[in-house]
Amino acid sequence: MVMTFFEVYFLTLSFILGTVIGSFLNVCIYRIPAGLSIVKPRSRCGNCGHTLSSMELIPIVSWVLLKGKCKQCHSAISFRYTFVEFLEGVIFTFTYLKFGLTPLTLILWLFFSILTVVFFIDIDHKIIPNKVVIFGLISGILPFVYHMVGTYPLYQWESKLAPIIGMMIPTLLMFSFVLGSLLILKKSGLGMGDVKIYAVIGVFMGWKLSLLSIWIAFFLGGLFGLIWIFIFKKSSKDYIPFAPFIVIGTFVSAFWGNQFFTILYK
Ligand SMILES: [Zn+2]
Repeated sequence: MVMTFFEVYFLTLSFILGTVIGSFLNVCIYRIPAGLSIVKPRSRCGNCGHTLSSMELIPIVSWVLLKGKCKQCHSAISFRYTFVEFLEGVIFTFTYLKFGLTPLTLILWLFFSILTVVFFIDIDHKIIPNKVVIFGLISGILPFVYHMVGTYPLYQWESKLAPIIGMMIPTLLMFSFVLGSLLILKKSGLGMGDVKIYAVIGVFMGWKLSLLSIWIAFFLGGLFGLIWIFIFKKSSKDYIPFAPFIVIGTFVSAFWGNQFFTILYK
C-alpha cells in the first residue's frame, strides 16, 4: 500500500487526536461515577493534589518523560491512563483507515469514545451511568440526521425508520434476556445498563450490526466465563461485568459486520 503525504498526515493526526481525546476520557471514566464535574477543576495528582501543568498533560509523552511518576511527590501514576490514551489513538487511527476522511469517521470517533468510557467504568464500578447513556442518545442525533439527508452507511438500509428500528430491536432483545433470566434463573447476569446502552448502539449502528454485536458479546462473555471457571478455577457466582464484551462486540461489528453480511448473503 502506497500512501500519499496527505494520508500519512491524516493518519498521524488521527492518532494524536485519539490520544488527546483519550486523555479527556480518562477524566470522564474517573469523575462521572464519582458525580464530579468533567470540566473543572484541572487534573491533579491523586496522591499529593499537585495541579498538573500543561507540560504534564501531554498524552503518553508526559508519562514517559516523567517515568510514570508525579513531578511533585514522585508517587506512581497508573499506567492505565497512558494505556487509555494509546488505545484511543489506535481506535481513531483504525477508524480513519477503514472509513477514510468522511463524516462517518467523525461520528464513529464520538461513538467509540462513548464506548471506551462505558468499557472502563463498567470494569471499575460494575455500572453504566445513566449520564453516559443519555449523552450517547443525544449524540445519536448525528447518525439520525445523516440518515434523514442521505443514507447512513452502517444501517445498510434505505428506510427512514432505520435509526428508530435500530434502537428498538436490540434493546427489546436485551430486555427479554434480562426478563427471561429473572423469571427462569431468579437472577440476571445482565443489568438494565446493558439494555439501555443498546439504544445508543442501535442508533449508531442499526439493528443488523447491533444484533451481530449482541451475538459476539454473548459468545465472548460465555468463553470468558468458561475460562474463568475451568481454567482459573474461580466461582461461577463471581460477578463478571458484561459491558466490556458488548463494547468489543460492537467494535468488531462496526468494523467488519457489513463485510460479514455481504459474504453471508452472497
Ligand atoms: Zn503527587
